[in-house]
Amino acid sequence: MFVLPDLPYPSNALEPVISARTMGFHHGKHHKAYVDAVNAILAERGTRPASLEDVVRASAGDGGKLFNSAGQAWNHAMFWVAMDPAGGAPSGDLAQAIDAAFGGLDGLKTAFVTAGGGHFGSGWVWLVAEGGALKVITTHDAGTPLTMKGVTPLMVCDLWEHAYYLDHQNDRKGFLEAWFDSLPNWALAQSQWAAARGGGAVWRYPDPA
Ligand code: MN
Repeated sequence: MFVLPDLPYPSNALEPVISARTMGFHHGKHHKAYVDAVNAILAERGTRPASLEDVVRASAGDGGKLFNSAGQAWNHAMFWVAMDPAGGAPSGDLAQAIDAAFGGLDGLKTAFVTAGGGHFGSGWVWLVAEGGALKVITTHDAGTPLTMKGVTPLMVCDLWEHAYYLDHQNDRKGFLEAWFDSLPNWALAQSQWAAARGGGAVWRYPDPA
């Protein structure tokens, strides 16, 4: 059985950008439903995969409910840890790579907000490492970089309306701007960036209980 990971901070810690009310629905209802769906499908099939990463990769391409649920379970868990209420800024070689790829943090913000704001429908916006370079990409629905060979996610924000509608209504761009200014977990981005280049382990979903 895969567990619903606890939030790494109190549900009101991301206010005012993301309210406790949004977090209550988003983590306690939406994310939980995806985890429950994965467990129900695996129980029906009588399989006990070793990791959620295995489930996502094995079901990618089938376009079915298992991939959609597993991808969403994984994406949401990474989204929670990719936020840090303490804020901060990139440092060290990550800051240098951002300067090289985007001309600085403002350039990354513009790329991230433009990509996420312009994404049609539901999905996710990511900062990823690919082949030693940084890129901003979006994925549709439950799509995830986990299934992209050689791609490591550093940062992610949820573009589904349930992520921002209670707090920002239809203003996805405003949500993304406020999110980028105060909530990215730069320590996670740095450790993922290091892992992408062979230094340490990438973030993983908790092992099944
Ligand atoms: Mn969501």
